[in-house]
Amino acid sequence: MSDRARFVVIGGGAIGCGVAFQLAEAGITDVLVLEKEPALCAVTSAQAAGLVGQVRSSLERTRLAMWSVETFSRLEQESEVKPGWRQTGSLRIAQTPERVREFHQLIDVAHRAGLDVALLDREAARRMWPGLDFGPARAILWCPTDGYLQPADLAASYRHEASRRGVRFRTNMRVTGFRKEQGRITGVETEDGVIACEYAVNAAGAHGYHLARLAGLELPVVPVRHHYVVTTPTDWLRPEMPVLRLPDATLYARAEMRALLLGGWEPQALSLDPRSFDPADPLPPIEEDWPVLAHFMEQFRPFAGSLADQPVRRVFTGWPTFTPDGRFVIGESSRVPGFVCAVGCNAHGVSGSAGIGRHLVESLFEKAPSAYVRSLSPDRFARGFDWNEAERAARGVLETYYAIGH
Ligand SMILES: Cc1cc2nc3c(=O)[nH]c(=O)nc-3n(C[C@H](O)[C@H](O)[C@H](O)COP(=O)(O)OP(=O)(O)OC[C@H]3O[C@@H](n4cnc5c(N)ncnc54)[C@H](O)[C@@H]3O)c2cc1C
Repeated sequence: MSDRARFVVIGGGAIGCGVAFQLAEAGITDVLVLEKEPALCAVTSAQAAGLVGQVRSSLERTRLAMWSVETFSRLEQESEVKPGWRQTGSLRIAQTPERVREFHQLIDVAHRAGLDVALLDREAARRMWPGLDFGPARAILWCPTDGYLQPADLAASYRHEASRRGVRFRTNMRVTGFRKEQGRITGVETEDGVIACEYAVNAAGAHGYHLARLAGLELPVVPVRHHYVVTTPTDWLRPEMPVLRLPDATLYARAEMRALLLGGWEPQALSLDPRSFDPADPLPPIEEDWPVLAHFMEQFRPFAGSLADQPVRRVFTGWPTFTPDGRFVIGESSRVPGFVCAVGCNAHGVSGSAGIGRHLVESLFEKAPSAYVRSLSPDRFARGFDWNEAERAARGVLETYYAIGH
């Protein structure tokens, strides 16, 4: 064995870095993060819009997002390396009576979780986003502690804080397999030799299926395309303007400095069967899909008028992973002891990263992890699944991302 660490985290994206940070926070510092790319945060996390929303339909997901916000605020205040956290608040707009009813349910969940949210009138919303037409809004939900950050800055902040406590990070180091004794993980094989470990954490994003397979598990971690545009700068956008969510138009937006960042959830998503590419291969490239992206701009027009005509400067796109039940996969496999999962981000792996890391620590070290954390275990797929059905269901999670009750 060329090296050893109690924990080897495979993948240096938002989730791998968030897990390393949370392990260090819990006093577990004999941790080595391995990333195959020359830099951290180089793959899916680099593409993320960085939106951090806490208003969710379940209490557990709301709490997980609140932990993330608490962590980002603390890092922003206390760390020498800031995550670039902008606590702008967010506005969520209802256009239908059903959506207004959903907002009341969301408010109830938020209040039970201790999250401050309130309904705003159009005038108050207009003062925050002058120039936007709030005419189509039947209700506007304001969450003052939401915001956004830059994923690369977040990864750098996690790295700094974890390294300060003794965690090691190594880039240009690809994991190629696992060593086991009596079924238990004892080491991680890399292109540069074997690293002995007690736990191997799969935080390999869109390669999460492959790493699980190498360890002897079949997991439905399905890459599904997601994308958004950033326009050229405008006169009237400011980075401190709240994040917008327009669920009935299946859109989200925020200011990216003085430009508009606009993304959405299309009704017919595009997925990848992870069995169709090799663990050693880079992820398949994604072509810019102008019909879908132009549709996002058209959907935005009733609110934004001429802003919907702003030229697009850049398209961001990637393969976040989805699971058939739309839930994270967190925790140790009972079939492969020592193999721990932190995959299946369902498109909120950046915002969820601190909460995911915290759940992972809870799943491993708390005497009685919560029923919610236990329900995220990779063991839920132990009875097998049908790949076609899993892929269809995973796409469905993206397609219904802003559906009522999602
Ligand atoms: C366009 C777009 C917009 C998004 N917007 C948001 C948003 O606003 N908010 C939000 O929370 N989320 C957003 N997401 C989702 C978010 O990007 C993902 O949930 C998150 O990046 C997942 O992080 P990760 O660490 O699992 O994956 P990654 O960032 O892909 O990290 C996995 C890492 O594992 C490494 N790896 C893989 N195999 C190996 C190996 N064998 N050995 C060593 N290393 C390996 C990879 O190189 C990679 O760096 C968005 C995604 C996209 C594509």
